[in-house]
Amino acid sequence: MRILVFNAGSSSLKFGLFDTGNGAERHLLKAGYDRFRDGGCDLRWSTDDGRGGQGRVPLADLGAAIAAVPGFLAEQGFDWIDAVGHRIAHGGAGFAAPAPLDDTTLPEIEALTPLAPLHNPANLAAVALARATWPEVPQYGVFDTSFHLTNPAFATTYAVPEVWRQAGLRRFGFHGTSHKYVALRAAEVIGQPLDRLQVISCHLGNGASVCAINRGRSMDSSMGLTPLEGLVMGTRSGDVDPGAFGYLSRELGLSIPQIEAALYNDSGLKALTGSPDMRDAEDRAAAGDAAAQLAIEIYAYRARKYIGAYAAAMGGVDAIVFTGGIGENSASMRRRICDGLEFMGVTLDHDRNARVDLADRAAPELQAWGARVRVIVTETAEQLQIAREVAQAMAQPVRVALTVPVAVSARHVHLSQAHVEALFGPGATLTAEFPLRQPGNFGAHQKVTVEGPKGRFENVRVLGPTRGRTQIEVSRTDTFVLGIDAPVRLSGDLDGTPRVRLVGPAGQVETDGLIIAARHIHMHPDDAARWGLTDGQEVEVEVAGTGRGITFAHTVVRIQKDAFTEMHIDTDEANAGGIVAGADGALVGPGLCR
Ligand code: ADP
Repeated sequence: MRILVFNAGSSSLKFGLFDTGNGAERHLLKAGYDRFRDGGCDLRWSTDDGRGGQGRVPLADLGAAIAAVPGFLAEQGFDWIDAVGHRIAHGGAGFAAPAPLDDTTLPEIEALTPLAPLHNPANLAAVALARATWPEVPQYGVFDTSFHLTNPAFATTYAVPEVWRQAGLRRFGFHGTSHKYVALRAAEVIGQPLDRLQVISCHLGNGASVCAINRGRSMDSSMGLTPLEGLVMGTRSGDVDPGAFGYLSRELGLSIPQIEAALYNDSGLKALTGSPDMRDAEDRAAAGDAAAQLAIEIYAYRARKYIGAYAAAMGGVDAIVFTGGIGENSASMRRRICDGLEFMGVTLDHDRNARVDLADRAAPELQAWGARVRVIVTETAEQLQIAREVAQAMAQPVRVALTVPVAVSARHVHLSQAHVEALFGPGATLTAEFPLRQPGNFGAHQKVTVEGPKGRFENVRVLGPTRGRTQIEVSRTDTFVLGIDAPVRLSGDLDGTPRVRLVGPAGQVETDGLIIAARHIHMHPDDAARWGLTDGQEVEVEVAGTGRGITFAHTVVRIQKDAFTEMHIDTDEANAGGIVAGADGALVGPGLCR
């Protein structure tokens, strides 16, 4: 499969052509346009059969460059492609995997622009032009944020007012494609599956971030809501006390946009040394420039702090991986970062560190003999990783995520009118204490005791309105307390169910109707029609955003007039997945439509 990958920045367009399939991966073409000025730009390219070139070409801007790509590919003998993969910086909380770029997903991605105002518009401009250029070719977005959506809530939540959090303020993390690629490459070098390793990946380029990859899953990363948090970067500040906004506004009269622009564009190495380039900083430091020397110390210290923090966060570390222009090329920066980490088993072999050669995808190990933690350097290959992910996405049946809220049902009872009167007295009726989300349903004031041969539950809530038959819904764990085996059944399917005693203030009854409710989704007919679902159909639901992450198979769709679309699980199921109130589930499965 031949996949064209675009990585469009605000001032450059990198692209690559990959041949993936049958276990082989060929990087057929590597190319990039940058330095747009005076009606032209630089083009640099090379192919895997040894051709290449560089020079000025008359393309005035990014749009012109993208439009020129098909002609350029044809000139080099590449006259067909199967798919286009686009790097997209911010996918928010909704894009956990590569997504087809179409009229449904693109507005969702556009809506995320305020979260990445410098990055997403450039990515989307490339998407628009590529869609116009190759209307028949599938286009996929691969998001820098997706890899980090496995981060636990305690790593992603800022301690800020709830309305801010509801407005979307949370940590995301970026460079996910790079962190994932280099962690996989490190696992290859180590010879163990990534899900057995604790890896800290340091992507040190113009943008820079550190990521804790705990047994294959990103657990934390140094970038946050935006790509501004964390390490010192070329022109970005990284961590700064948010109190700076008030202080600068009062003392220097700066507006929020002015401060934000300076933190993005005029901070980092550029602010400390006058140049955003680490090579300049190192040259100046070597020539005795005190500001450059301090900048290098700040840079290394910040990175070292994050490495120590992430070793603590994961409770261990097997490997530290360096990548990005600085991570790959600056032996002295790698050394400065690692020096002082001997206490946690990190000791560099300085000769190996000084003689790194990354030709032919080499990923050398730099730790001293006997050191507990491996230190590995590798080139990052974000475009290759994007091509891999697009190829995987295309090989799968269509899997789309339709999100439904998940509600956790504690044990409860539905009563027939005859049983209401037997338990609460002749003429008694259920009275509503609180409404439930399914229209017309309510939690009643009334409660009963449910008794089995082994144990009992007091104060079990009765839900109204009354039904034709009494039904008692408990969890599997509850059945052990009661000492009765109960079947997993859909609500209302009560023939042959076990008997149990209900005790109320005015009497008691022995009744069948004890079930463990089969998990199900109440669904409004409009949602079902939109998503192409039929009543009784079983779907898989991933509840990944919270707790331990779990996928529920065999979840039955129940289409009901006026239903509030919502998934119901019991307390055992919620506990198994660490699911708390307010969780969302994503329906996945072949054949679902958006
Ligand atoms: P981007 O994030 O734009 O892809 P890169 O990964 O190419 O950036 O990294 C650019 C950074 O790498 C610059 O700060 C550059 O100075 C630094 N760099 C490249 N080569 C070296 C080197 N030999 N020594 C020190 N720094 C280097």
